Amino acid sequence: MVQTISVIGAGTMGNGIAHVFAQSGYKVTLIDVNAAQLEKALQTITKNFDRQIAKGSITEDAKAKALANIATATDVAAGVKNAQLVVEAATENTELKLKIFKQVDEAAPAGCILATNTSSISITKIAAVTKRPELVIGMHFMNPVPVMKLVEIINGYATKKEVTNTIVELSKNLGKVPCVVNDYPGFIANRILMPMINEAIYSLYEGVAGVEEIDTVMKLGMAHPMGPLQLADFIGLDVCLAILNVLHDGFGNPKYAPCPLLVNMVTAGKLGVKAGEGFYTYAAGSKELVVSGRFR
Ligand code: NAD
Repeated sequence: MVQTISVIGAGTMGNGIAHVFAQSGYKVTLIDVNAAQLEKALQTITKNFDRQIAKGSITEDAKAKALANIATATDVAAGVKNAQLVVEAATENTELKLKIFKQVDEAAPAGCILATNTSSISITKIAAVTKRPELVIGMHFMNPVPVMKLVEIINGYATKKEVTNTIVELSKNLGKVPCVVNDYPGFIANRILMPMINEAIYSLYEGVAGVEEIDTVMKLGMAHPMGPLQLADFIGLDVCLAILNVLHDGFGNPKYAPCPLLVNMVTAGKLGVKAGEGFYTYAAGSKELVVSGRFR
C-alpha cells in the first residue's frame, strides 16, 4: 500500500499535489532544485489551508497534521530514496523530464511507481528511459489541485494493470474522481480543450467576433465558467502553443496547426496572466477584465 510519496517540482502544480496528499494523511517529500521555490511552496500551502479553515472545510488541527506530513528536499536522488510513489511535476520540458526520470529510476526503490503530471508529453516516451516502464504512469491533476476534482490517469504502452488500479484507488482516497485514458497526444483533456481554444483564437484572427463576444458566447451559451480566450490567458499562451505543437506533430493533422495570431502573441511575450497581458490586460491587484488594447 502506498503511504510515502515524493513530489518533484514545487511550482504551481507540485505545491497543490503535496497539499492534497498531506491532507489525506500521506507522508510527502516535496523536492525542488530551487530552495527558494520550496520555501514559497510551503507558504502557499499554508495560505491555502488557512483558506480552507476560513471556509470551514478543515480544522486548525487538520492543518497542523497535514503540514507535519510534508518534508522538503533539494536533492532529487535523496528525496526519492524511500518513496513508494513519485509524482513528477517539474517544468514541462521533454529533455528535463527524461533526465529526471533516468535519475529517479536509479535512486528510487524497486517497485516504486513513477508518475508524471505532464500535460502533454508521451508517457510511453518517458517510461522508455527507465528500467521499469511497467511502473510508469500519467497522473494528470488539474489546476488548482486542491479544488479541481478530476485526475486524468494515463496508461503508457507498458503500464501494468495493477499500477493503474493503485493510482485509481489513491486518487479516490484524495477525494478526486479518476478517469483512465490511453497515451496518445494531448490525452483527453488537452486534445479536446486546445483545439477549442485554438478555434476561438482563429475566430478572433479572422475577425468573426471580438474577444468579449467570443468569451460571452461560450460562457452564456455553453455554460462554461470562463470563456476560451480568458482560459488561454490563465493557462499561459506559451503553454497552449506548446500543447498544440504536440498535437500537430503527434497526429500530423493540419487541423491542430496553431493559429498564427497565437504564435505572434507568444513571440511578442504576450503570454496572458503571468505576463500581465494576453487577450485581456491584468492590472496588478485588480480583478477586472479589460480587453487588451490591441483587440479593442
Ligand atoms: P512551474 O513552472 O510552476 O513549476 C515547475 C517547478 O519545477 C519549478 O519550481 C522548478 O524549479 C522545478 N524544477 C525544474 N527542474 C527541476 C528538477 N530537475 N528537479 C526538481 N524540480 C525541478 O510548473 P507547473 O505549472 O507547476 O507545471 C508542472 C507540470 O505540471 C508540467 O508538466 C505541466 O505541464 C503540468 N501541468 C500544469 C498545469 C497548470 O495549469 N500549470 C496543469 C496540469 C498539468
